[in-house]
Amino acid sequence: MSYPKQNEDEGACLECGTAFYGRKDKHFCSVSCKNKWHNRVIQERRRFRAETLAAISRNYQILDGMLKDNRTSAPLADLKKAGFDPAFVTGYRKGSCRHDDYACFDISFYRSNTKIFNVRRKRPLTGR
Ligand SMILES: [Zn+2]
Repeated sequence: MSYPKQNEDEGACLECGTAFYGRKDKHFCSVSCKNKWHNRVIQERRRFRAETLAAISRNYQILDGMLKDNRTSAPLADLKKAGFDPAFVTGYRKGSCRHDDYACFDISFYRSNTKIFNVRRKRPLTGR
Protein backbone atom coordinates (compact mmCIF):
# COMPACT_ATOMS: atom_id res chain seq x y z
CA MET A 1 0.00 0.00 0.00
CA SER A 2 1.40 3.35 -0.99
CA TYR A 3 0.18 6.73 0.19
CA PRO A 4 -0.23 9.76 -2.05
CA LYS A 5 2.53 12.36 -2.19
CA GLN A 6 2.04 15.86 -3.48
CA ASN A 7 1.05 16.01 -7.15
CA GLU A 8 0.03 12.35 -7.16
CA ASP A 9 -3.31 10.91 -8.16
CA GLU A 10 -4.97 7.60 -7.57
CA GLY A 11 -5.11 5.49 -10.68
CA ALA A 12 -6.09 1.96 -11.62
CA CYS A 13 -3.53 -0.29 -13.32
CA LEU A 14 -4.44 -0.90 -16.99
CA GLU A 15 -3.21 -4.49 -16.69
CA CYS A 16 -4.50 -5.79 -13.34
CA GLY A 17 -6.89 -3.05 -12.18
CA THR A 18 -5.09 -2.55 -8.85
CA ALA A 19 -5.47 0.96 -7.46
CA PHE A 20 -2.22 2.88 -6.98
CA TYR A 21 -0.94 6.39 -6.40
CA GLY A 22 1.43 7.96 -8.84
CA ARG A 23 1.99 10.62 -11.47
CA LYS A 24 -1.12 11.52 -13.44
CA ASP A 25 0.37 9.89 -16.56
CA LYS A 26 1.27 6.65 -14.78
CA HIS A 27 -0.88 3.77 -16.02
CA PHE A 28 0.55 0.69 -14.33
CA CYS A 29 1.08 -0.46 -10.75
CA SER A 30 4.39 -2.16 -11.57
CA VAL A 31 7.00 -2.69 -14.27
CA SER A 32 5.75 -6.27 -14.56
CA CYS A 33 2.19 -5.11 -15.39
CA LYS A 34 3.54 -2.50 -17.82
CA ASN A 35 5.57 -5.19 -19.65
CA LYS A 36 2.63 -7.64 -19.72
CA TRP A 37 0.32 -4.99 -21.15
CA HIS A 38 2.79 -3.85 -23.84
CA ASN A 39 3.67 -7.43 -24.78
CA ARG A 40 -0.01 -8.23 -25.26
CA VAL A 41 -0.57 -5.10 -27.39
CA ILE A 42 2.42 -6.01 -29.58
CA GLN A 43 1.19 -9.63 -29.86
CA GLU A 44 -2.30 -8.47 -30.87
CA ARG A 45 -0.86 -6.13 -33.52
CA ARG A 46 1.30 -8.96 -34.92
CA ARG A 47 -1.66 -11.33 -35.01
CA PHE A 48 -3.87 -8.72 -36.72
CA ARG A 49 -1.14 -8.05 -39.31
CA ALA A 50 -0.58 -11.77 -39.93
CA GLU A 51 -4.33 -12.38 -40.37
CA THR A 52 -4.60 -9.44 -42.77
CA LEU A 53 -1.65 -10.67 -44.84
CA ALA A 54 -3.11 -14.20 -44.89
CA ALA A 55 -6.48 -12.86 -46.14
CA ILE A 56 -4.79 -10.83 -48.90
CA SER A 57 -2.68 -13.84 -49.86
CA ARG A 58 -5.77 -16.10 -50.00
CA ASN A 59 -7.57 -13.53 -52.18
CA TYR A 60 -4.56 -13.38 -54.50
CA GLN A 61 -4.43 -17.16 -54.86
CA ILE A 62 -8.13 -17.24 -55.77
CA LEU A 63 -7.80 -14.41 -58.33
CA ASP A 64 -4.62 -15.97 -59.76
CA GLY A 65 -6.45 -19.31 -60.05
CA MET A 66 -9.27 -17.62 -61.96
CA LEU A 67 -6.83 -16.15 -64.48
CA LYS A 68 -5.09 -19.51 -64.89
CA ASP A 69 -8.54 -20.99 -65.71
CA ASN A 70 -9.18 -18.10 -68.15
CA ARG A 71 -12.06 -16.85 -66.00
CA THR A 72 -12.55 -13.10 -65.72
CA SER A 73 -15.70 -13.03 -63.59
CA ALA A 74 -17.30 -14.95 -60.74
CA PRO A 75 -20.24 -14.56 -58.35
CA LEU A 76 -19.14 -13.11 -55.00
CA ALA A 77 -21.11 -15.81 -53.16
CA ASP A 78 -19.01 -18.55 -54.81
CA LEU A 79 -15.79 -16.67 -54.15
CA LYS A 80 -16.69 -16.18 -50.49
CA LYS A 81 -17.33 -19.91 -50.16
CA ALA A 82 -13.82 -20.45 -51.52
CA GLY A 83 -12.39 -18.08 -48.88
CA PHE A 84 -12.31 -14.81 -50.83
CA ASP A 85 -12.88 -11.75 -48.64
CA PRO A 86 -13.56 -8.58 -50.66
CA ALA A 87 -12.60 -6.41 -47.66
CA PHE A 88 -8.93 -7.28 -48.20
CA VAL A 89 -7.38 -5.65 -51.23
CA THR A 90 -4.12 -3.84 -51.88
CA GLY A 91 -5.56 -1.11 -54.06
CA TYR A 92 -8.73 0.83 -54.73
CA ARG A 93 -9.49 3.51 -57.29
CA LYS A 94 -12.81 5.29 -57.75
CA GLY A 95 -13.99 4.39 -61.23
CA SER A 96 -14.32 7.11 -63.85
CA CYS A 97 -17.55 5.53 -65.09
CA ARG A 98 -19.74 3.01 -63.30
CA HIS A 99 -17.40 0.66 -61.51
CA ASP A 100 -14.68 1.10 -58.94
CA ASP A 101 -11.38 -0.60 -59.63
CA TYR A 102 -9.90 -2.91 -57.00
CA ALA A 103 -6.46 -4.49 -56.97
CA CYS A 104 -4.77 -7.38 -55.24
CA PHE A 105 -1.10 -6.87 -56.05
CA ASP A 106 -0.80 -7.18 -59.85
CA ILE A 107 -4.37 -8.36 -60.42
CA SER A 108 -7.18 -5.82 -60.89
CA PHE A 109 -10.92 -6.34 -60.98
CA TYR A 110 -14.24 -4.54 -60.88
CA ARG A 111 -16.75 -5.39 -58.20
CA SER A 112 -20.51 -5.10 -57.94
CA ASN A 113 -22.68 -6.20 -55.02
CA THR A 114 -23.01 -9.69 -56.47
CA LYS A 115 -19.89 -10.41 -58.52
CA ILE A 116 -16.38 -9.48 -59.49
CA PHE A 117 -15.59 -9.09 -63.16
CA ASN A 118 -13.01 -7.89 -65.66
CA VAL A 119 -10.35 -9.69 -63.64
CA ARG A 120 -7.05 -8.90 -65.35
CA ARG A 121 -3.37 -8.80 -64.66
CA LYS A 122 -1.80 -5.35 -64.57
CA ARG A 123 1.22 -4.68 -66.72
CA PRO A 124 4.47 -5.27 -64.88
CA LEU A 125 6.07 -2.10 -63.53
CA THR A 126 9.32 -2.77 -65.40
CA GLY A 127 9.87 -4.19 -68.86
CA ARG A 128 7.27 -4.54 -71.59
ZN1 LIG B 1 -0.97 -3.96 -12.23
